[in-house]
Amino acid sequence: MNLKKALDFCTYYLRDKNIDEADFKSLCLVCYVAKIKNSEFYLNQSREIDANALESLLLRLENGEPLQYIIGKWDFYESEFYVGKGVLIPRPETEELVELAVSYAKKINEPVIYDLCSGSGCIGISIAKKITDSKVFCIEKSEEAFEYLKKNANGVKNVTTILADINDDIDLPMADIIVSNPPYIKSKDIKGLQRELSFEPELALDGGSDGLDFYRIISEKYTSKLKNDGVFLFEIGNEQGEDIKKLFKNADILKDIYGNDRIAEIIKE
Ligand code: GLN
Repeated sequence: MNLKKALDFCTYYLRDKNIDEADFKSLCLVCYVAKIKNSEFYLNQSREIDANALESLLLRLENGEPLQYIIGKWDFYESEFYVGKGVLIPRPETEELVELAVSYAKKINEPVIYDLCSGSGCIGISIAKKITDSKVFCIEKSEEAFEYLKKNANGVKNVTTILADINDDIDLPMADIIVSNPPYIKSKDIKGLQRELSFEPELALDGGSDGLDFYRIISEKYTSKLKNDGVFLFEIGNEQGEDIKKLFKNADILKDIYGNDRIAEIIKE
């Protein structure tokens, strides 16, 4: 089968199974099997493809496994990140948090930045690549996720990866910026999440009974690690703005393009 036929077949197959974005997912799968970029498809349409390999990937997708885990990497902000079972897939809305952190970091000479609950490292590593005089510490407690973090940080000299729980006492220089997209879903809501989310690690999603456990830990343990005039920047859940304001009295809540609470910005006075 050539690539063009394979793409038609995949699209037809996935549409028939009611998989969303069947066209895009098919293109990604076919190009992944052919070891080319999506943008190189057109010029390679008549090349032959390993149909068996493609078929087994289609079955995984049909089974609900996220496309990102199947192809093993995903674009976020300005780079590609390795992802797979055991690590949260970077989300496009998190890019807004990176953008905001970058705009703060630009104004500071050699800023010290922590990325807490770093997962794949998509936030901290993106900032480090953009702000080359920064020193970024990415902290992650899951050993499985840490493997991806290390791989993603490979060669990025201004990133230090630390395998630790944010509850641990970690010896770090005082921070100018502390960013985090911690788990923030209420424990009781985890089971009802959409099928694709069920493949992602519960550890990366579960924020405790009210979803706020990690913000509480950060408030208690990290306020003393932040310089005066330093800033906390968090991604937060859809309706967590008011709760965050109770934890951090001068929090500013920013909404995403859908009008949901999405980012908390807290300047230390
Ligand atoms: N910081 C990572 C991300 O935003 C992981 C977050 C998490 O595991 N909760 O993708």
